Amino acid sequence: VSDWIDISMQIAPGMPHWPGDPDVELAPVAHIGAGDACNVSRICMGTHTGTHIDPPLHYFSGGKSIAEMPLDVGIGPCRVLYIPDVLAISAEHLRPHSPQQGERLLLRTCNSERDTGEAFRKNFAHLTPDAAQLLADAGVRLVGIDYMSIGSYEADGEDTHRILLGAGLWVIENLVLSGISAGEYEMLCLPLRIAHGDGGPCRAAVRKRL
Ligand SMILES: [Zn+2]
Repeated sequence: VSDWIDISMQIAPGMPHWPGDPDVELAPVAHIGAGDACNVSRICMGTHTGTHIDPPLHYFSGGKSIAEMPLDVGIGPCRVLYIPDVLAISAEHLRPHSPQQGERLLLRTCNSERDTGEAFRKNFAHLTPDAAQLLADAGVRLVGIDYMSIGSYEADGEDTHRILLGAGLWVIENLVLSGISAGEYEMLCLPLRIAHGDGGPCRAAVRKRL
């Protein structure tokens, strides 16, 4: 029995996405039921579909692309923080958790209580710019959150991204953290290696550290 827990979304047509991003399209190219030797499909989707990583290139033209992400960014120990009672997560909410140099932090918020199939909503839990600055100053290596964006839907959501990505953090968005309690885990998270990719859909999993 595997003790790994999948914390990534299934990619499927009709799944919710950020306003303006493309719908997922999945269509057969070869189909056994139609007499072909095997099943092959064509998928069309945005680079920020489902559970995905934002690389620096998402906000900085000269920044590293998803293809250049060091593998060990997404592989290793991580800590899940449970912050369920606030939408605008600020530095004062993170400070008591003492973010550490080199840490991977996953934030389980009230977003995890939603049905992952529900349509986009503007009022989701996110990091404020001062929270992003606190993580950057602490030297955190990766931060993940359980909604489509780490920053708010308002203009300061862009500032949150610029502060994190500008400081060299890698950001995972749209994690599925319902049922994942706060604590220490091992994490695996590997994005598709899309050349010059400004985002990379990924499979992510955690396993409790004993
Ligand atoms: Zn993104």
